[in-house]
Amino acid sequence: MNVKLQINNQNIEIEKGSTVLDACKKLNISIPTFCHDDRLKASGSCRMCVVEIEGMRNLATSCSEIAKEGMVIQTHSKRVMESRKDVLELLWADHKNECLTCEAAGDCKLQEYSYEYDIDAVNKVYEEKLINHIDDSNKFYTFDPDKCIKCGKCIRVCEELQGVSAISFVGRGADMHVSHPFDMEMELSTCVSCGNCVNVCPTGALQEKSYTKFRSWEIDKKIKTTCTYCGVGCQMDLNVKGNEVVKITPSKDGSNNELLCVKGKFAYNYINHKDRLKMPLIRKEGILVESSWDEALDLVASKMKNIKNESGSDALAGFCSARCTNEDNYVMQKLFRGILKTNNIDHCARLWHSSTVAGLAATFGSGAMTNSIGEIENSEVLFITGTNTTENHPIIGSFMKKAIKKGAKLIVADPRRIELAEYADVYLQLRPGTNIAMINGMASYIIKNKLYDEKYINEKTENFDLVKEELKNFSIEDAAIICDVDVEDLKKAARIYAGGKTAGIYYAMGVTQHSTGTDSVKSIANLAMMCGNVGVENGGVNPLRGQNNVQGACDVGGLPNVYPGYQKVTDLKSKEKFEKAWNVEGLSLKDGLTVPKVMDGAHDGSIRFLYIMGENPMVSDPDLNHVEESFNNLEFLVVQDIFLTETALKADVILPAICFAEKEGTFTNTERRVQRVRKAVNAPGEAKEDWKILNEIMLRLGYKNSFENSKEIMDEIALVTPQYGGINYERIEKNGLQWPCPTIDHPGTKYLHKDGFAKGIGTFFPVKYSDPKELEDEEYPLILTTGRILYHYHTRTMTGKNDGLNEIVGESYIEISPEKAKELNISDGETIRVSSRRGEIEVLAKITDIISKNIVFMPFHFAKGAANRLTNAVLDPVSNIPEFKVCAVKIKKIK
Ligand code: SF4
Repeated sequence: MNVKLQINNQNIEIEKGSTVLDACKKLNISIPTFCHDDRLKASGSCRMCVVEIEGMRNLATSCSEIAKEGMVIQTHSKRVMESRKDVLELLWADHKNECLTCEAAGDCKLQEYSYEYDIDAVNKVYEEKLINHIDDSNKFYTFDPDKCIKCGKCIRVCEELQGVSAISFVGRGADMHVSHPFDMEMELSTCVSCGNCVNVCPTGALQEKSYTKFRSWEIDKKIKTTCTYCGVGCQMDLNVKGNEVVKITPSKDGSNNELLCVKGKFAYNYINHKDRLKMPLIRKEGILVESSWDEALDLVASKMKNIKNESGSDALAGFCSARCTNEDNYVMQKLFRGILKTNNIDHCARLWHSSTVAGLAATFGSGAMTNSIGEIENSEVLFITGTNTTENHPIIGSFMKKAIKKGAKLIVADPRRIELAEYADVYLQLRPGTNIAMINGMASYIIKNKLYDEKYINEKTENFDLVKEELKNFSIEDAAIICDVDVEDLKKAARIYAGGKTAGIYYAMGVTQHSTGTDSVKSIANLAMMCGNVGVENGGVNPLRGQNNVQGACDVGGLPNVYPGYQKVTDLKSKEKFEKAWNVEGLSLKDGLTVPKVMDGAHDGSIRFLYIMGENPMVSDPDLNHVEESFNNLEFLVVQDIFLTETALKADVILPAICFAEKEGTFTNTERRVQRVRKAVNAPGEAKEDWKILNEIMLRLGYKNSFENSKEIMDEIALVTPQYGGINYERIEKNGLQWPCPTIDHPGTKYLHKDGFAKGIGTFFPVKYSDPKELEDEEYPLILTTGRILYHYHTRTMTGKNDGLNEIVGESYIEISPEKAKELNISDGETIRVSSRRGEIEVLAKITDIISKNIVFMPFHFAKGAANRLTNAVLDPVSNIPEFKVCAVKIKKIK
């Protein structure tokens, strides 16, 4: 329903419930605002947006005033203008005047409106106040209270959108000011340095500590692109001065609701870092020396030819990259499959979510997040298991907090008392590796108490009886004992999950990285299907993919058993389809080797040649001593990367590639959304696009691709990949599209399995719990579990170049409970020795009560004191995912 009103003598009709400000915007009438933001509840506190409404005695704040039928409004009457001038003069009476040197000059609303409203700020007397000092303690930005106009926008963004509430107003009247808990050294501060407060500050009160000094008018362009860190795929603008990215701001039209996290916002200085690779390097007499592109590429191509001729295609292998674009990955797998004739092509998705792909493909027919990020805040129940979401997918974590504020019930299961546990209706601190027991226990309880959705099960699924039979002799009490959780808590979790009309399960590596990873995913699928939660809006089973393009790298064929679009390599029809599309013959019908099997092959000599694009197994893979031996035994290693990584140091040839800010292409985020990556700056030295390097190798091997640019690669991807059939650069220019998007007129798919499962019918799989492969014993009495942290990404190739992040967390550490630390006489910050059956490291001890007595935790990001020197490379037999999450260790004091 609409209402009709008149503004500045113009008639307008607008949807009922809209504000006067909305109506002004619709008429393109510019209204000044300090405290307003479309994403926040209106506060009207700055009073800059006042308007005069006929019949109303006082001026009204247009941001909070609802437009009513028949209103007659003036937005720039004499009275309104005087009121706005009064507001500005009052602000200046209390404001530091240093526009000449302020970093925000040119990008400051106070400055802009003062000019527009003829305010003579220079003559105002500025008084020093008690709170007059600049808070410089945050690693990434400063807060100057004397430039603060107290609009409260930073506080509201932190509370309403980020869900952190790290700052607030303190004091009263003239003394009122924003509190100062920006200091990361203050233990009580909950600030996560996301910088979302900085993004909305209308003046220079909150200022970034820029890596390069610049004035706002020196920004030449703002290029919209997709974040290169986690799988949320936040949309951002790269602010470019000359050939340098000097600032990152959130852009509109993304799933991230104009929010960013600390990495996306501030960790971009690596783009311009002096250590970027600029020339190809060839190892000559043991030393890496610079070479021309021709020499390096000729050498790579001739090695490929020779080894293929001598030992056959399967003596070669390639790792594509969850960090590179879809286009890069597509060309990489095409080189290995189409030209070298081997399916030995895989990437680090093997190590993070291969059990998801296997488990969900078997149960639902599609191994991806079923629902969308935007649906989270409308779920009635969130079941979060094995994901530390606020650290690993920070913007999704914020949306979860928003859902909780809106009344969603929350179940959290994790061996560590993660941040979201503080908001939970039920928190289950389960033993690492007991997920299947926990889910089976809940399922058993739901079956016993008939809390399942019989109609849904009968109409949409098969084999529920097999699960019933399997769980007949497994009770929730049995589960509670195995998981070491309170049985009443587990029952409560089961009732909450089964009771929600819309209940979404969110999980990550805590579920997948086990020797029973595929079964673990299947057990989750069983639980969701029995409660009718798949194929429904705001529900579903949602694996949160870790790296920026891990979803896309899988989609476009970066896996050893499937072509792009998950078409099996063992299927004759697929072989024929790709032979025709690529104009080649003799594609292999044999599944290729997975990452761990390639490592074993290098170890035993059956793999002689390995080509790694943008991955760093020398830090990321389990049992690093074995990985190192494998690399040492390889005949020829090619590494294509942007920095000299730990893996590159082992290479025979290093090819300098370009980073996300320098290339065109697409990433596919965790919600299956294919989004554009755009070039903002030129690459350093002679570094080249990944796909162009591969293209040149293909040319040397006698094959010419038909594409000239990344857009044309996407057109080829769309031709051979059913889920991407309707995707092209024109269609994803603004918002991206979620696959499946099979045809050019298809709108994309918000949530999967709406009209039935992708495989026709959902299949239940009975799943038995079994212990992790290595348990604590007398010699190794503690269980080590590993994971990610907020402040670093993957193996720190990029985040390790950022001083701010390194100052917050710069070294490897191990979390130990206070009881265990006391028992072993270990102090916080002390360097200790940690060993497993596979290796030994020295790291800092971090004593924390978020972990229980016989469990220890380490982030895997660090090369020095690497957690993966200790981890167990035992594999899940179906997906080949290693059991990163559980191994037995012992701890020793060094002195
Ligand atoms: Fe980038 Fe993920 Fe942070 Fe978004 S949440 S800014 S995608 S790292």
